[in-house]
Amino acid sequence: MSGFPEVRVKPEYAEIQKWARDFATREVLPLAEKIDRSDEYPLELARKMGEYGLLGITIPQEYGGLGLDMTGAVIVGEELTKASLSAGFIMGVQNGLAGSVLALFGSDEQKSRFLPRLVKGEIICSYGLTEPGAGSDAAGISTRATKDGDSYVVNGSKIFITQGAVADLLVFFARTGTPEDGAAGITAFVVEKGTPGFRVGQRLEVMGARGTATAELVFEDCRIPASAMIGHAGDGFLIAMTILSKSRIGAAAASIGVAEAALDQAISYAKKRNIFDRPLAKYEAIRFMIADMATRTEAAKLLTYHAATVHDSGQEFMKEAAMAKYFASETAVWVAERAIQIHGGYGVSKTLPLERYLRDAKILDIVEGTSEVQRWILSRELLDGQ
Ligand SMILES: Cc1cc2nc3c(=O)[nH]c(=O)nc-3n(C[C@H](O)[C@H](O)[C@H](O)COP(=O)(O)OP(=O)(O)OC[C@H]3O[C@@H](n4cnc5c(N)ncnc54)[C@H](O)[C@@H]3O)c2cc1C
Repeated sequence: MSGFPEVRVKPEYAEIQKWARDFATREVLPLAEKIDRSDEYPLELARKMGEYGLLGITIPQEYGGLGLDMTGAVIVGEELTKASLSAGFIMGVQNGLAGSVLALFGSDEQKSRFLPRLVKGEIICSYGLTEPGAGSDAAGISTRATKDGDSYVVNGSKIFITQGAVADLLVFFARTGTPEDGAAGITAFVVEKGTPGFRVGQRLEVMGARGTATAELVFEDCRIPASAMIGHAGDGFLIAMTILSKSRIGAAAASIGVAEAALDQAISYAKKRNIFDRPLAKYEAIRFMIADMATRTEAAKLLTYHAATVHDSGQEFMKEAAMAKYFASETAVWVAERAIQIHGGYGVSKTLPLERYLRDAKILDIVEGTSEVQRWILSRELLDGQ
C-alpha cells in the first residue's frame, strides 16, 4: 500500500477491515491474474470465502451470516475488490443479491433451507433479472410464470447472469400478470439446478470481472412449485429494486477498490521509474495527475461511505446510492485509464494488472444500472419529487 489514501474507518470497523484485507492479500491476490486470464470460475476460492465468512456479511447470524450493516459490507467489498473484482462479484452476488433477496423477502422455510448453505459457499447462487430484451428497463421483462394448479410453468430466458453457468440456485423474476400490468405484474421465484426445463444457455465472455461464469439461463416449460415464490405475487419489481438500490452501494465499494488498486500502483511506479534524469514522480504533469486521481478516489469513497451510513441509519438512501454508484464507477474507469498512462507501454501490457483494472472498471459502469440509469434516477428524485 502506498498509504494514500487510507480508509478512515471507525474503530469498531477496523477489525473487520483487517480481517478482510488479510484474506484478500493471502488468498485472493495471488489468484487474481489467473482468474482473469483463464476466465474459469474459482470454485475453490468461493468455497474458502464461504468458510471464512465473506459470503454472508449482511446475512443474519441465525442463518450463519455475520449480520453486519452496509458499512461493514462496503469495507469488506472494497478490500476484496482491491485484490480482484471477480472475488468482489462472488461476494456481491451471494451476499448482496441472491442472499439479500432470500434474507429480506424469503419465507422461513426458504431462509432456513438455502441461506446457511449459501453463506458457507456450499451452494453457488445467482440473481436473474436481466433478459435479452430488457436490461435497464427491468419492468419490461417477458419471462413468464403461468399458474397451473399448485405450480408455475416458466418460459423465457435471462442473460448476463453472474455465476449463472455454475449456479446451484437462481433467484429470478418473471411475469405472472399481463404485459399491461407492467411492474405490478412481476413476481420473484427461486429455482434449483437440475429442475427439468431449466438449463444454462450460452456462456458469455465479458471483458472484465472475468471468471465469474456469466451466462444465459433458459426456461422451457419449467415447472416449479407455488412454494418457490418469494414474497407475494406482484411484489417482484419492488423486491428487485429494493435489492438493486442496496447493491449499488456494493458496486460503488467495488469501484473504489479498483480505483485504489490502480492509484497505489501508479504512485509506486512513478516513484521508481526514471525518465531522462529523474523519477517520473518529479515531473509536475505526473504529480498533478496523481493528485487528481487521489482526489477523485477520495470523493468517490466519501460518497460511498455516506450512502452506506444513510442506509444504516434507516433513512431513504436511493439518491445517495445512485450518486455513489455513478460517481465511483466512472471514477474507477478514469483512474484506471490515468494509471495506464503513467505506466506507458507497461500499462497496456499484460505483464502488469493495469489493463485489467480498466476492463474491470468498465464493467462496474454497466452493472447494477448504467451511469445513464443512475442519472435518470437522480434527476427523477431531484426534479419530479414533491
Ligand atoms: C459482467 C456483467 C454481469 C452482470 N450480472 C448480472 C446479474 O447477475 N444479474 C442480472 O440480472 N443482470 C446482470 N447483468 C446485466 C446488467 O445489469 C445490464 O447489462 C445492465 O443493467 C444494462 O442493461 P442492458 O445490457 O440491457 O443495456 P440497455 O438497457 O439496453 O442499455 C443500452 C444503453 O442505453 C442506455 N440507457 C438505458 N436507459 C436509458 C435512459 N433512460 N436514458 C438514456 N440512456 C439510457 C444505457 O445506459 C446503455 O448505455 C450483468 C451485466 C454484465 C455486463
